[in-house]
Amino acid sequence: MSSTAVTDLLAALADGAVEVVDLTQPLSETTPVLVLPEPFANTPHLSRRRLSRYDDDGPAWAWDVLELGEHTGTHFDAPVHWITGQDGDDVASVAPSRLVGPVAVIDRSAAVARDAGDLLTVEHLEAHEAQHGPLEPGTWVVLRTGWGARAQDEAAFLNAGPEGPVTPGPDVAASKWLAEHPNVVGFGVETVGIDAGAAGGFDPAFPLHNFLLGAGRYGLTQLANVDRLPARGALIVVAPLKLVGGTGSPSRVLAFVPR
Ligand code: MN
Repeated sequence: MSSTAVTDLLAALADGAVEVVDLTQPLSETTPVLVLPEPFANTPHLSRRRLSRYDDDGPAWAWDVLELGEHTGTHFDAPVHWITGQDGDDVASVAPSRLVGPVAVIDRSAAVARDAGDLLTVEHLEAHEAQHGPLEPGTWVVLRTGWGARAQDEAAFLNAGPEGPVTPGPDVAASKWLAEHPNVVGFGVETVGIDAGAAGGFDPAFPLHNFLLGAGRYGLTQLANVDRLPARGALIVVAPLKLVGGTGSPSRVLAFVPR
């Protein structure tokens, strides 16, 4: 049999030349969720109701019913999540080819360790392209901040201060740059949402939601193990539920990383 790209990949996985890294946070009742100020509706934490546990309700089987928001834990934002993207894709309409692609990692973890509200700028994005080459078509850009280390502690993860949440994210110009870059399919973060904590006060408010989802691109939040990704050269697989009409979906996110 002749060699193909897929058989080569399978061989690399088998011999460890390519590693599968799980970019997904564990999903449970304690998974942190976004908190919006009054008067806005808030999403619940995940909860489970038992149907059976090898008992009278199901002697040989165990199963539960879930209640959770579409935007809970490691999750995907579809364009219809935002008013600017309301004519765009719902989760079920997203072309599968856009859910698999190259990943470019912008490392701001050192800056975020000094300033939790650090903002990603166009200068940082252009410096990444200057150092690593232009973004390839279909790229998912991931912002590395080290925030994933807080993911099991809701107070530390949301980091709400007197002025509101203090978490990193892109500024207005960087949001526009990402939304207008022809090769950017999506943007992923380690925090609870794709915009910075202070972004409710930006003009426009929540600029990355506004511009990126408005441009028919996608978001990805609460990623884990981002420090195990190279700046370039890995492949990301984003797997939201095929939820008809869905504005978002908890997702399993994997990366194929060369050793
Ligand atoms: Mn979301």
